[in-house]
Amino acid sequence: MKIGILGGGQLGRMLALAGHRLGMSFRVWEPNPDAGTRLISETFARPFEDADAALAFARGLDAVTLEWENIPAELVARLASLVPTRPGAEALSTAQDRWSEKSLFQSLGIAVPPVAKVDSLGDLHAAAAKVGLPMVVKTRRMGYDGKGQAVVRSAAEIDGAWSELTDNGRRVVPMIAEGFVRFTRELSIIGVRALDGGMRFYPLTENHHRAGILRLSISPAPGASAALQSQAERALGEVMTSLGYVGVMAMELFEVDGQLMANEIAPRVHNSGHWTIDACATSQFENHLRAVTGLPLGEPGATGFSAMVNIVGSMPALSELTGVNGARVHSYDKSPRPGRKVGHVNFVEPTFEALQARLADLQTKNLPGIEIPSRS
Ligand code: AMP
Repeated sequence: MKIGILGGGQLGRMLALAGHRLGMSFRVWEPNPDAGTRLISETFARPFEDADAALAFARGLDAVTLEWENIPAELVARLASLVPTRPGAEALSTAQDRWSEKSLFQSLGIAVPPVAKVDSLGDLHAAAAKVGLPMVVKTRRMGYDGKGQAVVRSAAEIDGAWSELTDNGRRVVPMIAEGFVRFTRELSIIGVRALDGGMRFYPLTENHHRAGILRLSISPAPGASAALQSQAERALGEVMTSLGYVGVMAMELFEVDGQLMANEIAPRVHNSGHWTIDACATSQFENHLRAVTGLPLGEPGATGFSAMVNIVGSMPALSELTGVNGARVHSYDKSPRPGRKVGHVNFVEPTFEALQARLADLQTKNLPGIEIPSRS
């Protein structure tokens, strides 16, 4: 089978690596000729806005999928008329817009932080009264890793946040404001839905960010009860089903007093699921490919306790990384740049204590690009 992937970053690369094992080959639509997929797939280097190139891209492909959620929905719709394209344009446009996303969660009875739509400075003042202060203001589209966001702590900060997010009023974009959630921790759940509607879920994962960038994921999330797992599965399952979704979807959640609140969904494989490569019978990448090509889903079959530590900025020397006991090293073949995810290491251990010991050992090595936030 030959699969098209829209986007050639590390997620595309890990999809292609998983697919090669199954004998699949790949054509990747990626404007950047330096993409991480360039050595393991055919590259189609056109701008994503060039929907007229869809015909040439689709030629000979069995299915198309994506690894970046900001692919123009029009391109996905155009491709869908030529070749099975999963997920489809509807799911993608819902996930691209924080207001549509939150509205969908609410319509399905999924708990969310208090939220208001903001299109003007007046709306932002009204939102403060509705959702309460402090609040988090987010652009509806194109935000990632904490970009396009501002925290407003008091009424005096409202005008400043507006100026910051709109470039002093020059570039007003649709936004939302959310009540600031004092969460116990951040969790995510990854699920996959097949063409026939069957679903599988991975265990809840605990996530730790620094400056908006994911640094550490631990799965299963320590202490997460079976009830919490089913609450998360129910929420994600309802979202996927209501969108007629096919493929892997991730849902980011806040845990507050033992309950879950949905923050956002990603219509793709997700950074908090990278541990599945080394800990699961079927990784998120393989299950995504199985789903979008109509193959039977694989059991997650997660074993032990896993951690994933992102490498951000630059890769330490391979000679050092491979010397870390138990580390399963994944490099994305990317050039270094501040804030850029260039690789990760996974650990899979039989007990949580053994996992903590591995993380402590890695910490002592003080390697560039690796910062392990404390879990307290
Ligand atoms: P997002 O882009 O929505 O995933 O937000 C990035 C990060 O900002 C999240 O991982 C949280 O750490 C934090 N954050 C987002 N929304 C809220 C909120 N309503 N209350 C508190 N923290 C938030």
